Amino acid sequence: TEELLRKSEMLSAVGELAAGIAHEIRNPLTALKGFVQLMKAQGGNETYISIMLSEFDRIEHIINELLLLSKPKIINFQPQNLLMILNDVLLLIDTQALLNKVTIHTELDAGHPYVHCVENQLKQVFINLFKNAIEAMPEGGNIYVRVTRKDDGDIIMSIRDEGCGIPADKLPRLGEPFFTTKEKGTGLGLMVSYNIIEGHNGVMRIQSEEQKGTTITIELPAL
Ligand code: ADP
Ligand code: MG
Repeated sequence: TEELLRKSEMLSAVGELAAGIAHEIRNPLTALKGFVQLMKAQGGNETYISIMLSEFDRIEHIINELLLLSKPKIINFQPQNLLMILNDVLLLIDTQALLNKVTIHTELDAGHPYVHCVENQLKQVFINLFKNAIEAMPEGGNIYVRVTRKDDGDIIMSIRDEGCGIPADKLPRLGEPFFTTKEKGTGLGLMVSYNIIEGHNGVMRIQSEEQKGTTITIELPAL
């Protein structure tokens, strides 16, 4: 528990700092990108310009993830049916799953699981987790999504994959900013997700076994 507390304190401190920095970087970045686009329009060196633009995209992608960490104002929290949010995300992620020969199975067993939430943030969490699950199965496979309730009525959602899993010695590092094992990874998805779930008074847990797969469990207070 002490370890958990320490980690959660670190996460919120890092999160706020990161979001602040991301915010500061965004404006000059937009200006830079604008000038590169201008150079393109004026017929500058095409190779250099296309490299610069794709690097800008990467920086923007990282900044957008970091910006999600800034604490949402209380006013943004709304009652929402978690299944609606999940459904929207499944529509978004479906093509990517199909392209990667991944089938997503759902077991929805929670009635009408209303939660008090910032819809876009929860979507971001689910997208991050589905992307990780798909990326863990380069040859394709199955993802099992389950939504149920605990005895006290709180909502449990789990996302299980049959992918590469995570070696035991790396498990404690998950959620650390910039920890990634992927060539093109940002190592921010899980940190952002932990932060968001915490901001919703929820808990996110990861179980994983190498070569067997990974299960992410999210608990959220029911409305
Ligand atoms: P990224 O996906 O950009 O690497 P994340 O924060 O989303 O960053 O994930 C961090 C690391 O955790 C990944 O690089 C990977 O090693 C591991 N990981 C996360 N989810 C899974 C999963 N479902 N299966 C296997 N490994 C995972
Ligand atoms: Mg990821």
